[in-house]
Amino acid sequence: MPASSSSSGVTWFWDGEERVRTLTERLGVETFDQHLAGDTLLQEATGVRRLPGNLIDVPARRFASGADSLAHGLAAGLPTEALRLATPVTAIRRRAAGGLEVRTPDAVLHAEHVVLAVPPALALARIDFGPELPAELARLARATPVWMGVVAKVVARCPAAFWRGEGLAGAAVSRTGPLRELHDMSGPDGSPAALFGFAAAQDVGPGFERAVIAQLGQLFGPVAAEPESLHVQDWSGEPWTAPPDAHRLADHSLFGHPLYQRPALDGRLHWASTETATRYTGHIEGALAAGERAARTVLAPTTDEVNTCFR
Ligand SMILES: Cc1cc2nc3c(=O)[nH]c(=O)nc-3n(C[C@H](O)[C@H](O)[C@H](O)COP(=O)(O)OP(=O)(O)OC[C@H]3O[C@@H](n4cnc5c(N)ncnc54)[C@H](O)[C@@H]3O)c2cc1C
Repeated sequence: MPASSSSSGVTWFWDGEERVRTLTERLGVETFDQHLAGDTLLQEATGVRRLPGNLIDVPARRFASGADSLAHGLAAGLPTEALRLATPVTAIRRRAAGGLEVRTPDAVLHAEHVVLAVPPALALARIDFGPELPAELARLARATPVWMGVVAKVVARCPAAFWRGEGLAGAAVSRTGPLRELHDMSGPDGSPAALFGFAAAQDVGPGFERAVIAQLGQLFGPVAAEPESLHVQDWSGEPWTAPPDAHRLADHSLFGHPLYQRPALDGRLHWASTETATRYTGHIEGALAAGERAARTVLAPTTDEVNTCFR
């Protein structure tokens, strides 16, 4: 598992996402409410309008130390040798003797089962499955979009959450860009103070940061145009998140496809990324649900084992 970026990805989990809530409690991960109070700003070519109330945020919880505290908490419960960071899987093949062979740059491992918790299109781009993956499944995986894989997230750290004092929620929608949607991303009680926004990854390029700062100023005034720091994370450029052709993948109806619900390669290869979940697809909740489904299938006795029990 290669190391990945953290605070500039996941922000929230929402009511009803019981797996995430239960996991935060089990791991002792601290959470707090997303700030909601205040008005929304709408940016159009003609200017900025203030609309009463928060029209874009819904009640949600935030992770006090970032969403990667979930991954760190889960990893802490594993035997040390079970986790290989910065070790990409490069090939997966059937073994003549049964099970699967998993190759990394410096090792060949033998596995009874493989749970592939990687976006399907990324798996097909980075892992060599040889000719063995059924053609229909390979086509599906190559065509399945990576959730938010062509999005850039921009975090602007500010000296204070000054917009709250002006009755603004820190929420904004823009028809001009470069940021299309903005939210208050401050810590508990507004500290540290931050705004974040989503942009289309293809808009990131020379002049992007300057345009973002100008936009922050147009929306929230001169204080916002002087952030303490600006962090831009283009997820489409992350080789372990999005495949090179991520921009071409647009058929969201493929999320949670029935072919992902059953294992491939003689029942040994299980799909478990959020893109394969039938509910909460795209969210951490979906990733956890897909992981549970894969784990249940791995742990379920095979027909042979059941027959042995009753023989
Ligand atoms: C900008 C942004 C904002 C988001 N906001 C939210 C939010 O607020 N709430 C929410 O619930 N969700 C949000 N999401 C979605 C959330 O990030 C995903 O639902 C979640 O990360 C999916 O988890 P996963 O385990 O399926 O896949 P990933 O998180 O993509 O994990 C895949 C892992 O596999 C590793 N990997 C890749 N290739 C290989 C390989 N060949 N060998 C070994 N390891 C490999 C990667 O390094 C990575 O660690 C957001 C996503 C983005 C991009």
